Amino acid sequence: MSGASLSLRVRFLSPSVGAPSSSQVRSAVSLSRASPAVLSSRARPPRGTVQTLAVDGYEVTVVRKRIKNLYLRVRPATLGVEVSAPVNASVDYIAHFVHIRRPWIERQLERGRQSRSRSQASGVVSGGWSPDRVEQARACIESQLPGLLEAWCPVVGRRPSRITLRVMSSRWGSCTPSTARIRLNLQLGFMDGRFLQYVFVHEMTHLLAGGHGADFQRLMDGFLPQWRDVRRELNRQIVW
Ligand SMILES: [Zn+2]
Repeated sequence: MSGASLSLRVRFLSPSVGAPSSSQVRSAVSLSRASPAVLSSRARPPRGTVQTLAVDGYEVTVVRKRIKNLYLRVRPATLGVEVSAPVNASVDYIAHFVHIRRPWIERQLERGRQSRSRSQASGVVSGGWSPDRVEQARACIESQLPGLLEAWCPVVGRRPSRITLRVMSSRWGSCTPSTARIRLNLQLGFMDGRFLQYVFVHEMTHLLAGGHGADFQRLMDGFLPQWRDVRRELNRQIVW
């Protein structure tokens, strides 16, 4: 779901804008006396004031700004209704402004609710990974890590300070030698164990040699003689 909001803008200065129809007035009796009157100067809320108004069952967040127009915004992600209003706009006027745009607000809220239930139904998180899928991959990698650490720390002569598992779209792993931190792509959890081993040893080797030059290759040749074959095969796999 995008964080974009939908907004309407209406000139504040025109008193004739959107006079309520008789049916609308009936549906909101408290607004029947709404008029585009402005507050007297002593009652003006200062710029930046945030108020909450209840209008037709909506909780409307009103932010006072140094602007000439009223702006109505619905945030589909939070189902929030927001109005930016000039500092001198009366509460009645703002309530009326929201009231007459109820059909538009309802459409935006309905869109937000639908998109929310769609994403809940599919359990999709960023990158197309559902929480279940993340958990499966994590469990699979974590079950192999103790064995890998036990086997390879004595061989490489280094121990990572921390291993982080995450969804990565462009690489299988990474290493920060200065902090001895290693990150592994969660996708490795769904692949043959030799790929996880290769990426793990590759990143561990970066604790001894930065880059992929002669030093790195010589070390890898000593640790995993078949590493080039595994790398070739791994690079044919698609990183999700
Ligand atoms: Zn590398």
